[in-house]
Amino acid sequence: MAEILEGKTLAKQIKASLQERAYNVYKKLGRRASLVGFGWKGDGAGFYYLNKEVEASRKIGIDADIVLLEESTKPKQLFTLLDAVFQKANTIDALLIARPLPPQLNILDIAANINPAQDIDGSGLISMGRLFMCKTWQDIENLQTFIPCCPKAVVRLLDYHKINLEGAKVTVIGRSNTVGSPLAKMLTAKNAVVTLCHSKTKDLKEITLNSDIIVSAVGKINLIEKDFVKKGTILIDVATVVNNEGKCVGDIDFENLKEICPISPVPGGVGPVTLACLLENIIISAERKIK
Ligand code: NAP
Repeated sequence: MAEILEGKTLAKQIKASLQERAYNVYKKLGRRASLVGFGWKGDGAGFYYLNKEVEASRKIGIDADIVLLEESTKPKQLFTLLDAVFQKANTIDALLIARPLPPQLNILDIAANINPAQDIDGSGLISMGRLFMCKTWQDIENLQTFIPCCPKAVVRLLDYHKINLEGAKVTVIGRSNTVGSPLAKMLTAKNAVVTLCHSKTKDLKEITLNSDIIVSAVGKINLIEKDFVKKGTILIDVATVVNNEGKCVGDIDFENLKEICPISPVPGGVGPVTLACLLENIIISAERKIK
């Protein structure tokens, strides 16, 4: 069996001091750190994860609430709600917008209306723009704005397992603004040589077979099987999909590849680290207000 690149221990380490820091925020600011999440109970797992994030926040002493969007919510209504959160930046530290949203709500317009100080998942235009202006990882660390938590979690997981990225050939599969695109930027800043693939990529197999590291963020069970991978390639599975048996699995054929490749499990790999990074950002956002 090759190494299992688990994320639970790292997540525990990140979360270890958060409860204490949340209490310190409470003592110094006279209120708890606070999160507001916007979500729609439509298709997709976004709303489910938002509830988990709210639950985890409350557990460590963060005030967390969800503003429920309706299928019929108009862009103007959402902008009014976002503006109200923006205006309360002194008392609302963190904003999360679960996706997918009803189709009439354009994510680019929404991203333009997110206050970077509250943008703990780095999904607003200012945060994203600042990330893409960075050349080196040091530049990213020096940013005062937040960066997307899931790709950040992938980088932290690779660092934690001491995987060298310098000059490594990394294939990222999936080019969403949530995961693949910012991840490609972050890994490039870590001096990896990144190939970013998507649904129109021809000969994905040829690319993956020539990779040192593969990160898959698609949401298709068994997209990456044994014949796509050479022995020893490092495999990071970001995807979370529910299979026919109701089990949460990823894109990569874990059972058949764990013998020959270091691989992150689903669940228990990137997911817990993403959640820990998110909680950490809520606390950081609140701590920035302590004089
Ligand atoms: P998304 O917005 O649906 O993006 C999926 C990406 O996969 C797109 O870029 C798409 O290409 C690409 N794709 C689709 N079929 C493909 C194929 N056959 N070959 C290569 N690329 C293909 O999804 P997302 O929000 O990035 O999320 C991706 C997965 O990660 C989901 O399973 C999600 O649940 C999971 N996720 C996990 C975490 C975590 O913390 N573990 C966090 C966020 C998301 P096009 O751009 O050409 O359409």
